[in-house]
Amino acid sequence: MDNYSLETNCLHAGYHPGNGEPRVLPITQSTTFKYDSTEQMGRLFALQEAGYFYTRLANPTCDAVAAKIAALEGGAGGVLTASGQAAIFFAIMNICESGDHFISASALYGGTFNLFSVTLKKMGVSVTFIPPDSDEDTIKAAVKPNTKLVYGETVANPALNILDIETFAKAAHDCGLPLFVDNTFPTPVLCRPFEWGADIVIHSTTKYMDGHATSVGGCIVDSGRFDWNAYPERFRGLTQADDSYHGVVYTRDFGKVAFITKVTAQLMRDLGSSPAPMNAFLLNLGLETLHLRVPRHAQNALAVAIFLKNHPKVSWVKCPALEGDTQYGLSCKYLPNGVPGVLSFGVVGGREAAVSFMDALHLASIATHVCDARTCVLHPASHTHRQLSEEALEIAGVRSDMIRLSVGIEGINDIICDLDQALSFV
Ligand SMILES: *Cc1c(COP(=O)(O)O)cnc(C)c1O
Repeated sequence: MDNYSLETNCLHAGYHPGNGEPRVLPITQSTTFKYDSTEQMGRLFALQEAGYFYTRLANPTCDAVAAKIAALEGGAGGVLTASGQAAIFFAIMNICESGDHFISASALYGGTFNLFSVTLKKMGVSVTFIPPDSDEDTIKAAVKPNTKLVYGETVANPALNILDIETFAKAAHDCGLPLFVDNTFPTPVLCRPFEWGADIVIHSTTKYMDGHATSVGGCIVDSGRFDWNAYPERFRGLTQADDSYHGVVYTRDFGKVAFITKVTAQLMRDLGSSPAPMNAFLLNLGLETLHLRVPRHAQNALAVAIFLKNHPKVSWVKCPALEGDTQYGLSCKYLPNGVPGVLSFGVVGGREAAVSFMDALHLASIATHVCDARTCVLHPASHTHRQLSEEALEIAGVRSDMIRLSVGIEGINDIICDLDQALSFV
């Protein structure tokens, strides 16, 4: 889009109505699209012409929202999926098949950890977890002949490790591999991983992008910069003919949007995970105020972190924006305008005290959610990460006394008063 600022793109990117057309992005609530000739419909199916024919593959409302997110990230193209999990799965399976391998920073969202360590393994795709603070040599040492990509979360949920994107990108690129980054927590308002060398960005749009806890969704964005053709054997699915499309070669025929076109035309076609157009519409409403909400989340979270740090009943606080935090240096580099509104802490008295505290909250709600406009809390060890063994919890960076607090955009004094009164029950 014409070099508009991020703020303007939050409102305008992706949808440009013509004369007399609806000002607000229309919800194209239709499974199918009508054509006058069999010939034209045939060209669409052969990917020789761009257009819509069935919402399982693509839909105008969803495409407009994907284009907006791609503009916000500074990418060449994007695609929406029905959930963040689907976005991660499709992004990986777009270049991996049975027998392949990838490398991931171990500090991950619980669902991603299970996807990688259990479900992808069953499908024959193996992963090596490396420490999130690995240096270039450690990353490179994990590369095998069948490795296809390196993966990490910009700000890990819930461990809050910050990925040194530049180091990971350099190590990956030196080995001819793309870096995939889950940028769910910062959103492009706080960090744009492509500017630091990432190649594919993934989002659970369920979090800040939607922002109001209405719709589960995901998005994959491609920077358009990774040269798949430089390693034609490694990325055969992109560089060689797709028999299911009469010999389409994605890199040859679609250039910078090869990766996204393959996800859409092949994986969405075969596995089916497109969001409802109505959900894409709701996501778009959230995106229109993303640039206003995310900085307020960051500001409130820092105030809460400072309050907790000074409270006698709080044993530890993890917030990358706090001076002295292990991630403070990386947060200054990658998140100079503030950190996501999610922080974690422990209360004096461990697991049981944590439960008493949570049950005494009035304003903050216990919810399996983060990055909502409303403040919410969760106990990862008994909720999101419940399936993980003590050892796996440790690898994922989750302590059993950890309370995860997602700071909302309510009045900061109300949030702090609520935490204060609940801490008196500890
Ligand atoms: C929530 C989340 C996911 C999963 O997304 P869903 O939309 O719930 O499927 C993936 N990564 C991160 C960092 C998340 O916070």
